[in-house]
Amino acid sequence: MIVKSKRLIRIVILFMLLIFPLSAAAANHVVVIDPGHGGSDMGVKLSKSVYEKDVTLAIAKLVRKNLSGADGIEVRLTRSDDKNVSPANRRKLAGKSNADLFISLHVNAGFGLNAKGYEIYYPVSDVPSVKKSNSGEILKDMNQTRRLNSCVRFAQIVQKNMGRVFPREGRGLINAPVLVLQSLTSPAILLEMGFATNLENKKKLKNKKIQEAVADALTKSIKKYFSTDGTS
Ligand SMILES: [Zn+2]
Repeated sequence: MIVKSKRLIRIVILFMLLIFPLSAAAANHVVVIDPGHGGSDMGVKLSKSVYEKDVTLAIAKLVRKNLSGADGIEVRLTRSDDKNVSPANRRKLAGKSNADLFISLHVNAGFGLNAKGYEIYYPVSDVPSVKKSNSGEILKDMNQTRRLNSCVRFAQIVQKNMGRVFPREGRGLINAPVLVLQSLTSPAILLEMGFATNLENKKKLKNKKIQEAVADALTKSIKKYFSTDGTS
């Protein structure tokens, strides 16, 4: 009996050793969703009572709800109610959460009444493109390149899935410095979901069904990103 149970213990230990690295690899991915504006910072106006800050929060909450039961994905919001949050504090939350992905949500305006559709911004490199002289700079540069590649990969997935909500209205991927995205270490995008200055877009963005469709497109994109990326 004793010999047998010792053997059993050894088998159990061996089994746990085999399982442990697998469960460590399946650790949570943290997604920080940043509903643009809030509080006295209303953002662009969609109607008398609906502003950009309301649309971004509604969609962020829907994505969080959609992913609440998802295995290995945890969603955190930079704000979950109507309050002012500075860009620095939004970035700070992403850093504190050790975010694997950061998504800032906004509604566009301007460029005339005919401008419509969605735009996806991704950050520019923080590393100056001078000749790298030491291994620290080279490593930093490599990490930046890897991060930017991940940003572009996620942006492409979002672009494709948003096309189902706003057919033929994709305005492309834009590489530009955006305050809330800069200095983050995680892959990050800013999605301008449509134009408040375009009648058709405005009507859609206020519609609960369309808000759900945007949230579904983002949910699908997040799942796809993590299912095809083993490095983040
Ligand atoms: Zn905005």
